[in-house]
Amino acid sequence: MPLIDEKKQKVSSRDRTELRLKGRAVSRGVAIGKVVSLYGTKRQFYKINLQDSQIAAELRRLNASIRKAKSQLKKISAKKREKLPNMQTGIFETHILILEDKSFLEKIQTVIKEDKVNAEWAVKTVIDAYVARYKAIPDEYLRERYVDLEDVAERILSALGGNGKTKNRLKKDSIIVAREVKPSTLIELIESNPKAIVSESGGWTSHTFILAREMNLPAVTGNTGILRQMQTGDEVIVDAYNGQIILHPATETVRSYKLAAAQFQQINYSGIKSAKGVLKTLDGKEITVRTNLDLPDGYAQAKRFGARGIGLYRSEFLFNQYKGFPTENEQARVYREIAEIVGEESVKIRTFDLSAEQFLDGTEKKEKNPALGMRSIRYSLTNKKHFRTQLRAILQASFEKNVDIILPMVSDVSEIIETKKILEEEKARLKKKGINSGNPHLGAMIEVPSAVFTIDEIAAESDFLCLGTNDLVQYLLAVDRDNETVADWFQTLHPAVLRAIKMVLDAAETHKIPSIVCGEMAGSPFYVPILIGLGAKELSMNVNSILRVRKIIAGIAFEEAGDLCKRIESCRTSREIEELVQQNIREKWAHLFPYEA
Ligand code: PEP
Ligand code: MG
Repeated sequence: MPLIDEKKQKVSSRDRTELRLKGRAVSRGVAIGKVVSLYGTKRQFYKINLQDSQIAAELRRLNASIRKAKSQLKKISAKKREKLPNMQTGIFETHILILEDKSFLEKIQTVIKEDKVNAEWAVKTVIDAYVARYKAIPDEYLRERYVDLEDVAERILSALGGNGKTKNRLKKDSIIVAREVKPSTLIELIESNPKAIVSESGGWTSHTFILAREMNLPAVTGNTGILRQMQTGDEVIVDAYNGQIILHPATETVRSYKLAAAQFQQINYSGIKSAKGVLKTLDGKEITVRTNLDLPDGYAQAKRFGARGIGLYRSEFLFNQYKGFPTENEQARVYREIAEIVGEESVKIRTFDLSAEQFLDGTEKKEKNPALGMRSIRYSLTNKKHFRTQLRAILQASFEKNVDIILPMVSDVSEIIETKKILEEEKARLKKKGINSGNPHLGAMIEVPSAVFTIDEIAAESDFLCLGTNDLVQYLLAVDRDNETVADWFQTLHPAVLRAIKMVLDAAETHKIPSIVCGEMAGSPFYVPILIGLGAKELSMNVNSILRVRKIIAGIAFEEAGDLCKRIESCRTSREIEELVQQNIREKWAHLFPYEA
């Protein structure tokens, strides 16, 4: 099978006529570069051509990863046997046998030496060939055994990831192309400074694109089948203003886009202005802007733009898919560093918002609906050891610092009450050991419909609320935020969404606690007037949205935004609401939305 694909790719690579493909722009900008295709599912990788001098080190890296994979399997197998003595652990033994097969290892080594490629690519080459042969076996049982090979390949690839910091760098001007780019892959590739992302799937609120916007990295998604058209090394232009991908661009096209790409770079690096002082609407209502920060290095810039602290720190980005949960000390150090960076303001650390599929040893049963599965606060309260470790780390970091806690995916007040109890226990434990802790405020993410309907009970037990509009839209409208094919149903302006937001903002007001809107909606100039009109006073957003959002807030009157929201109340659909907002923009705020005019 792979052989046929390769042939097809070769034919298409000869065809160099300019090809324009439509996608959906999810992070603005323009880039010109060369395609780097990503492969792999759990761990993503790409082909790297090595110099002769690098081959010996690559072989050592491969051998180390095989040793690591083997030892992981032995541990898992022993653990399983300890728990369930009668359980069949044959599958792990089979995988160990594959890893111990000399000819298997030699084949991978030969590809590294002869093709002069990285170990990941060599593993893929060898496994693809084996799998093709297995799939041709007439015996059904044997034919299905190819899945074991794929599992073993995944394990070696994970082990090759080491601590997640690959030493190999992408070439200059690389444009990452994949079916789906994982956030962890993007974090791994950041240091190589890729120029843009093109993916077949992933929506506006996917974490990968949230990160892309934070990094000012142009991204276009949603063109299924695009992978088949592109090959590593192909020249491509990513126009993430218009959602276009231009493959094999003609000289004239490149020339016209070069200017746009250069201007985009200038906006990134030299167009930095600062914004200071209290932010108010035209009629004097004070609005606080905070930043959502996944990469703490960005805080200095956010502060220059007028951000007051970090409204959402997604701690799961510390989770390393190769090493697993960070230790208490590692976490405490990172949290303390962030607390130092924000100084007088606060950082709100969200506890791990992880789903079961992100966990390590790959022996867990795959969930049919991970978004509805064992994740976030549910995982934390089920696996208290990790939760307690994280809470202790936060407690330590909060000593004499403004560090608060946010609980993700709260679905009723009992999760907050239980967390409070654990916090008290861990505080006492630290005290006993003579370790200082602070008094972090405890907030709940409101992003699940049941939390909206029990908002009074939740608000009564919370120090603050965080409106996670990304998930709120997903769960209220039953539309997968990562699935580009249902993107048209991801309607941020759905009447149900706006009513839910209003209920939460009103409850916070009644209970006299702060509420922060921290989903992507808060960073979108188009949605901000509605949030203000609904009564939002605090917005937390991506660093690169701050200046644009500040401009909108300073240019609208709260009363006018409130009037707009009153009129929205009689709309029946998101289409009607959108038309009303567009009309309002044309008539009253055209100067604030030059692109829309
Ligand atoms: C949200 O759901 O709106 C949110 C802010 O959190 P995340 O995007 O990480 O799910
Ligand atoms: Mg969320």
